[in-house]
Amino acid sequence: MADMKLLMNDLVTANHILAKENVLDSFGHVSIRHPEKPGHFIMSRARAPEQCEMHDLMEFKLDGTIVGPNPHPGKPYSERFIHGALYEARPEVNSVVHNHSISVIPFSVVKSVKLRPLMHMAGPIGDDINVWDSAAKFGDTNLLVTSMEMARDMAKSVGPRTVSLLRGHGCVVTALSLREVVFTSIYLEINAGIQMQALRVGNEVQYLSKGEVDIITKGRSGFTFERGWENWCKRVGRPYYPQAMDMGAGFSQTDPSG
Ligand SMILES: [Zn+2]
Repeated sequence: MADMKLLMNDLVTANHILAKENVLDSFGHVSIRHPEKPGHFIMSRARAPEQCEMHDLMEFKLDGTIVGPNPHPGKPYSERFIHGALYEARPEVNSVVHNHSISVIPFSVVKSVKLRPLMHMAGPIGDDINVWDSAAKFGDTNLLVTSMEMARDMAKSVGPRTVSLLRGHGCVVTALSLREVVFTSIYLEINAGIQMQALRVGNEVQYLSKGEVDIITKGRSGFTFERGWENWCKRVGRPYYPQAMDMGAGFSQTDPSG
């Protein structure tokens, strides 16, 4: 299978995995930057991610314009601008997830408690997760990010972070690769659920230190993502195509995730 076709296949698989793992429901989306055209990105047409198939994938310019003839007239995601603005602002980012996962949203509306990593697998979500409030600049809206103007304001708030929350709406996750964005999105949702449980057990929760977050983030390897990816592919009945891993790019022979 050609690399491009493999990547597109993996994007369909990522849609299914994120639905199965409680990150996406009938809404939310995942995208990849086009590997040969950095000014373009690819995502599904507006469809429940669990139902996504190869022929649903569409190509966009970073401003959200559809590239070429539209195979699905009138049906791109209205919030595709989220993805375009993040790719525009962050040249290193190659994959983006926007979701409304239920454990994460409470932390976007409770001002006294920040969403913070407290278990080792979730360290890479970062220790400075912020909240973008669309009302600060745009007043009363339906909270959806449906223009480049809104999306660019959001991307400015996200800055260099891996994760940011959107008040009363959901979150965005950025990553260097599709496997990484899937991994981080799943453990973001898990960490948020565990944090709520911990806060019910007691008020004094010990979160990961900044030093621990830095060590965990730097220590992650392609093998860690691959181990999760293979398992998640099998769970949704999608074919698993092993990814050739760059031995010089932080790959380690042992799995630092345990
Ligand atoms: Zn949304």
